[in-house]
Amino acid sequence: MSETKSSLVHNFNAGPSILPKEVFEEASHAILNFNNSGLSILEIGHRTLLFQQVMDEARSLATELMHLDSDHEVLFLHGGASTQFMQVPMNLLNENESAAFTDTGVWATKAIKEAKLFGHTEIVCSGKENNYTFLPKKFNVPDSAKYLHITTNNTIYGTQWQDLSLFYQFKVPLVADMSSDILSREIDFNKFDLIYAGAQKNIGPAGVNIVVVNKNILGKVSRSIPTIMDYRNHIEAGSLLNTPPVFAVYVCMLTLRWLKGQGGVAAIEKINNAKAKLFYDTLDSLPVFKGKAAKEDRSRMNAAFIIENTELEKEFLDLCKNEGMVGVKGHRSAGGFRVSMYNALPVESVKALTDLMKEFANKKG
Ligand SMILES: *Cc1c(COP(=O)(O)O)cnc(C)c1O
Repeated sequence: MSETKSSLVHNFNAGPSILPKEVFEEASHAILNFNNSGLSILEIGHRTLLFQQVMDEARSLATELMHLDSDHEVLFLHGGASTQFMQVPMNLLNENESAAFTDTGVWATKAIKEAKLFGHTEIVCSGKENNYTFLPKKFNVPDSAKYLHITTNNTIYGTQWQDLSLFYQFKVPLVADMSSDILSREIDFNKFDLIYAGAQKNIGPAGVNIVVVNKNILGKVSRSIPTIMDYRNHIEAGSLLNTPPVFAVYVCMLTLRWLKGQGGVAAIEKINNAKAKLFYDTLDSLPVFKGKAAKEDRSRMNAAFIIENTELEKEFLDLCKNEGMVGVKGHRSAGGFRVSMYNALPVESVKALTDLMKEFANKKG
């Protein structure tokens, strides 16, 4: 077999993004012959036992890795996280009610925009004035809010709520967009009533969302919900209401298996912390570079930074390119640089990048 691309390239893409090499290998076999069925994973029926087992295992691995209690159901749904921006309020918010939001970036803003189609919204804090480089921590959430929506990790700006217990004190259900840091660190997932994440950042390929929902918050709105948008129907159908994205769910299942094999979330968190420490320590030691996010809010998944002398930007990017480093350029709305260090990114890739940064800084110093 030819050498896989992932061993030659350091992939810092923000999403779709790196997955474990073992997952690519197993998935490629399954495309030719899935579980010795003589069929490709791409051609099996979603109601076959073969796929039923995949879906069941994916759901149960997610439940296990997040230590979810029996009120919380795991679903794999179509549409990307952006669909959840509307599906959440459609299922939870009546027209005369208000949902509270932390405005911490573009994705939060989009979630707010969609919620307005279904009810009222209240922004309890906003980092907009500071270009979302830090997370405002002084705010209040009224008991009358139907729920509080947060974005745990702000992919574009490289900020991440470090202390989620900040949100546990409020009396309202907690909803979180965890697209870019789900299963990267130990948190009490049961504190959340609804969690959603596009898989393509940390747990699988594009094309599927993981949704975790506390059954007890459903069935409380007066509107009619279209069949395919109603979480209750998906729960009842075991996440097989209609044809799911079969291959995407399968690859998520493989990645969850891999994560369990690594020792689960606690073990991966240690590695993620080590990667982030290596990166930020290097960044802070080199005056040529500058971190964008406030130190206390720095994301362990996405690091955003700049070179103050913007004339050197291209040179640094070219250097990265020559060394096989992809995905170093910042989001089109933010500029500068961003490197994503998701679960599957080996520490060696961060080492290679930080060595390159040092070399660059020495030359420019
Ligand atoms: C990428 C991202 C989204 C959008 O995901 P899609 O699957 O493209 O709709 C939403 N929220 C966050 C935090 C993200 O990082």
